[in-house]
Amino acid sequence: MEMAGNKATTEQRTEYFDVLIVGAGISGIDAAYHLKKECPEKSFALLENQESFGGTWLTHKYPGIRSDSDLFTFGYKWKPWHGDPIARADLILEYLNECLEENDLARHIQYSRKVQSASWSDQDRRWTLTVLNNATGELTEYQCNFLWMCQGYYRHSEGYTPDFPGRDNFKGQVIHPQTWPEDLDYTDKKVVVIGSGATAATVIPAMTDKAAHVTMLQRSPTFFFPAPNRNELADTLRELDVPADWVHEITRRKVLHDQKILTKRSFEEPEKLRAELIAGARQYLGNDFDIEKHFTPSYRPWQQRLAFVPNGDLFTAIREGKASVRTDHIEEFTEKGIQLKSGEELEADIIITATGFNMNVLGDIEFTINGKPLEFSECWAHRGIMFSGIPNLAWVFGYLRTSWTMRANLVSDFVCRLLKHMEETGTDMVTPELREEDKDMPSLEFVDAENFNAGYLRRNIHLMPRQGDRKPWVFSQDYYTEKDEIAEADLEDGTLIYK
Ligand SMILES: Cc1cc2nc3c(=O)[nH]c(=O)nc-3n(C[C@H](O)[C@H](O)[C@H](O)COP(=O)(O)OP(=O)(O)OC[C@H]3O[C@@H](n4cnc5c(N)ncnc54)[C@H](O)[C@@H]3O)c2cc1C
Repeated sequence: MEMAGNKATTEQRTEYFDVLIVGAGISGIDAAYHLKKECPEKSFALLENQESFGGTWLTHKYPGIRSDSDLFTFGYKWKPWHGDPIARADLILEYLNECLEENDLARHIQYSRKVQSASWSDQDRRWTLTVLNNATGELTEYQCNFLWMCQGYYRHSEGYTPDFPGRDNFKGQVIHPQTWPEDLDYTDKKVVVIGSGATAATVIPAMTDKAAHVTMLQRSPTFFFPAPNRNELADTLRELDVPADWVHEITRRKVLHDQKILTKRSFEEPEKLRAELIAGARQYLGNDFDIEKHFTPSYRPWQQRLAFVPNGDLFTAIREGKASVRTDHIEEFTEKGIQLKSGEELEADIIITATGFNMNVLGDIEFTINGKPLEFSECWAHRGIMFSGIPNLAWVFGYLRTSWTMRANLVSDFVCRLLKHMEETGTDMVTPELREEDKDMPSLEFVDAENFNAGYLRRNIHLMPRQGDRKPWVFSQDYYTEKDEIAEADLEDGTLIYK
């Protein structure tokens, strides 16, 4: 809890660490693991705003909350996953807890610490952070040489809800999945879920056990990928008593291989893939269901995240009549529910706005560089990890298509290699800068819309740094090229300036 009304006081004490990691979610824990292993002489701490670890998997408490990536790749390379591929949040948190315990990382995390500002000084060659202790309301100063931003890419305090006309007319409850009231009783209630992304696909079948009926209301259809929640290869290897770390690594490689083919097909033969995905839905819903209207998206498969539906549970709920779909536009909220543009009024006791999240940049932290406020959108992204003009800082922005963690892992290796390189060369400051020959680069969006065009990115892309048209200023969002490019990155290519 933040002490909103209390006047904060600044403690005199300043804590110094070689590296500070902001956030104790999947990325922060990966960063800490690598740092401890690769750079054991560096002192470090993780500053986490929440009262526990896990980030996304702690914040979200809606019914059924689960990953939509398989845990062989969403889990870490260094810690085998023993369960089914798609996992509920509580199992992900259990896995992360084991990661902390087994590697003695828990003692490095400081909870209820909200980083409010960060300023770099060339003169001091360090970052100074102002950090709010949520429990006491005190502000403390922390300093570090290197700042590792593992704060994710969205605001945890509240989700994104569009401004629906007539919102106040509605007499029932309106709930965003990101701020789910844990005591919400939806027994025998008519529920309308607005949206058709992974969250809607999760929450709908999870609510049909108690709700009178759940309606998914979507403006436009999404691609879903129904399949059993098991990995045959992992099951076979386990049956053969293959050691757990082998099962993990082999299955991981197979998943990545299969996803590579899927991604390639989404560019090379999108129509064929589209037909297969639609046939997948048809298998569950039968010939009489209007798949054309409700499950045939206009975008290319994989241009937005492909929502995995374990065991086809969403489709089963629809087939059994416990859930239904409307593809329509909202005219306004009414006293009793939602008036649709087609003329129908959808009655509801509870409306769930599964309408996504608010992207934020650099954790809503106020940044200054040598006293000047940082304009992040004017920076050039260096391999999508560091940023021109910002010394000693890396941000983990994971993959949007492949599991996020795959990129967190590449970034961890890169940062540790960079820190070791600086140690070896006797420098303590590194800043990405454009070379003379880079200065004519076209300024392109951080994530190319043709590649990936999810709504939250399109709404906020103007806040993000830019990418160029040549290495290392390109951010391809492609694991299969980055896994070699980042691993082999030349740290003396003239774009990283050491002092
Ligand atoms: C519901 C949902 C499901 C998802 N499912 C998947 C999936 O299946 N596969 C996938 O690849 N991706 C998924 N994602 C994307 C997901 O965010 C990432 O995969 C991953 O969990 C991000 O980990 P992270 O540690 O980088 O960030 P987060 O999980 O966002 O954690 C960041 C942490 O930083 C802390 N923090 C932020 N700002 C500050 C600050 N100023 N001071 C101190 N602490 C701060 C936050 O409190 C938080 O604990 C999902 C996202 C959502 C919202």
